[in-house]
Amino acid sequence: MAYTVTFWGARGSIPTPGAHTARYGGNTSCVAVEADGRLVILDAGTGIRGLGLTLVGQNGSVQAEILLSHTHWDHIQGLPHFKPFFAPGNAVRIWGSKQGSKSLDEILHLQMDPAVFPIPLTAVSAALTVKEVRPGGEFTVGPFRAQSMQLRHPGTTLAYRLVPVAGGRSMAYVTDNELGPGGSYDTPPSWRRELVQFLSGVDLLIHDAMYTPAELDSHRGWGHSSYEEAVELAADAGAKRLVLFHHEPEHDDAALDGLLAAAQRSAKRRGAPVEVIAAQEGMQLSL
Ligand SMILES: [Zn+2]
Ligand SMILES: [Zn+2]
Repeated sequence: MAYTVTFWGARGSIPTPGAHTARYGGNTSCVAVEADGRLVILDAGTGIRGLGLTLVGQNGSVQAEILLSHTHWDHIQGLPHFKPFFAPGNAVRIWGSKQGSKSLDEILHLQMDPAVFPIPLTAVSAALTVKEVRPGGEFTVGPFRAQSMQLRHPGTTLAYRLVPVAGGRSMAYVTDNELGPGGSYDTPPSWRRELVQFLSGVDLLIHDAMYTPAELDSHRGWGHSSYEEAVELAADAGAKRLVLFHHEPEHDDAALDGLLAAAQRSAKRRGAPVEVIAAQEGMQLSL
């Protein structure tokens, strides 16, 4: 089965609109995966607003499956502005982990509490379903078999690997993940080996590459990786293509050009056959 992967938001932490970020884009995490008219959305950062506008502009009802890596603001902030929510006949199913004792459903309602947002989640007219995913959980979503794995990031943060049920190329969405030492996370000592296995031979790996190696030194324990670590992981796992993702808000287009070139040199130095690119808003890949 062939499918497309479209980047609607590639930024981490906070939106960064403006002339200096116009090429890579300022919207936060949102990636649309489309196959045979079926849609799976990875994260609901501010990029999901534009995707929602496109969806309601098409004929017919919207059936959207949204997989959340976790519920930090930059991964859910676009949700209240996702237009398909506000038309009867549409159906939205949201998958993700609970956080501590708070259910995913509770967290999504809190985001639209009257204290911070004018319209409560109970007022949406689309059919809404919330499904909790446990780390290591497997489920079928749209035309894909999805596997999840816990990442090294504050809270419960999930990676997703998608494999077409009908056969075809695989992809993995791995963002907000600290590959290096630092931080205190609820993951076993064998975690990195398990992650390499989880990603083994994946055709497309989208991975957190927030920092340069120099910046990483002052951000240990923040739950993110450098491009160098992302390249190393892609090489170890035998990924065919690596997309650098979750761009640091202070990296403008020129800085990201430099970061990408350095990541490509790093892959070459390692003799890794992986193709390295950087996520840009509007970029579409075919698998
Ligand atoms: Zn994030
Ligand atoms: Zn996060």
